[in-house]
Amino acid sequence: MRKLIKGGTLVDDAGEYRQDLLIEQGKITRRAEHISVDDSMEVIDAQRLLVMPGGIDVHTHFNIDVGIAQSCDDFFTGTRAAACGGTTTIVDHMGFGPAGCSLHHQLEKYHHDAKGQAVIDYSFHGVIQHVDQAILEEIEPMVHREGISSFKFYLTYNYKLNDGEILRVLQRFNECGVLATVHPENDAAIQWRLAQFKQQGKTAPIWHAHSRPLACEAEAISRTINLARLADNAPLYIVHLSNGLGLDYVRLARAAGQPVWAETCPQYLLLDINHYQRADGLKYMLSPPLRPHSELDKMWVGITDGTLSTVATDHCNFPYSQRQQMAASDFTRCPNGLPGVENRMALLFSFGVTTGRISRSRFVSLTSTAPAKLFGLWPEKGSLLPGADADLVLFDPDQQETIRHADLHDNGDYSPYEGIRCQGWPVMTLSRGEVVCRKGQFTGKAGHGRFVSRKPFINRE
Ligand code: MN
Ligand code: MN
Repeated sequence: MRKLIKGGTLVDDAGEYRQDLLIEQGKITRRAEHISVDDSMEVIDAQRLLVMPGGIDVHTHFNIDVGIAQSCDDFFTGTRAAACGGTTTIVDHMGFGPAGCSLHHQLEKYHHDAKGQAVIDYSFHGVIQHVDQAILEEIEPMVHREGISSFKFYLTYNYKLNDGEILRVLQRFNECGVLATVHPENDAAIQWRLAQFKQQGKTAPIWHAHSRPLACEAEAISRTINLARLADNAPLYIVHLSNGLGLDYVRLARAAGQPVWAETCPQYLLLDINHYQRADGLKYMLSPPLRPHSELDKMWVGITDGTLSTVATDHCNFPYSQRQQMAASDFTRCPNGLPGVENRMALLFSFGVTTGRISRSRFVSLTSTAPAKLFGLWPEKGSLLPGADADLVLFDPDQQETIRHADLHDNGDYSPYEGIRCQGWPVMTLSRGEVVCRKGQFTGKAGHGRFVSRKPFINRE
């Protein structure tokens, strides 16, 4: 059956159009001011609604094993929540595998975890946890045979890379069409502070934030930017940027023409360090941590002036009950991460578009088109042009809703955004033409989602 989306306002990253949109065999096939209805069509009434490319969340962690715990959302519950929030593609960051494992080891694990489970399309970012000749040689087939055209490395945690390893891997990425992504925090500075706090008995959640203040992140951002510059301007993507100083380094590099992009997440735009002083402070344990309130405005400037290119979630869900059990008396025992995959679109729309900070087209760019272009998904994803996948979200810009975890579709037990009022809400999500959520009701099915083989990186700026 063909589907006709009638009477809506189409919004893409370039503009707005009062057009009907026809879907055939899961693809957008036609757009026109008026498309006549016939018996072969199911009509979706989009009057007073915005019709936008479905969200692309390029930073999730489903089914991740972080050593001390396993996250509670797998590829079914995680993508179900994503779909109900207007997201139609996720790119999941692989967790670490056993020491010394190959790149294909984790790829096979993730294919196994996602297959038959995902309700929307998905891909994975690879992870570099050590550097040797075998790993360097494995990168090319990962890109060209397996469709994995981005990898992450870490500057902290157990499998952090040193500067020499980073230079070698960045050079190889640059040769192979890979976009490097980095978790930038200065590990030595964090360990130094943690040791002091431990001695002083400082174990409450607020000390998590003080153990990795924004200078730890900003230093690592500036270092990685300069290493990428040394590696023949290897393209670099900073994940989960949380503060104004780090943003300034990105701004300087971009102004100089260096191929650097940065992502932030709703938690760094909307939540601040004071949340660690609450009785339920463990709900907000993540890295980088929430920042002083004064940073939030700086992050919004990054959204409006184009220094930030994407908004993702870093969805990594550990129930509050588990956090309490594991870390009641010591924040260092708390698994790190926040849920949020279902609320990204509504939060950015409400606090970005409804407040007048950004246009609706800029919203589409941040949530869908820019991530699609950077990560090799465009133009099949992130576009409303004929030939694109019919991955769509219908948004009601006037609908007011209050976020309640009871209404969400993840497998956890809380939302960090509980009680936040939104104006602008996703009312229908289509994945390759199939309605996967309608008015908050999940209507998709496990296994509908397909692995997307991503194209090598091309700088489209
Ligand atoms: Mn991270
Ligand atoms: Mn992450």
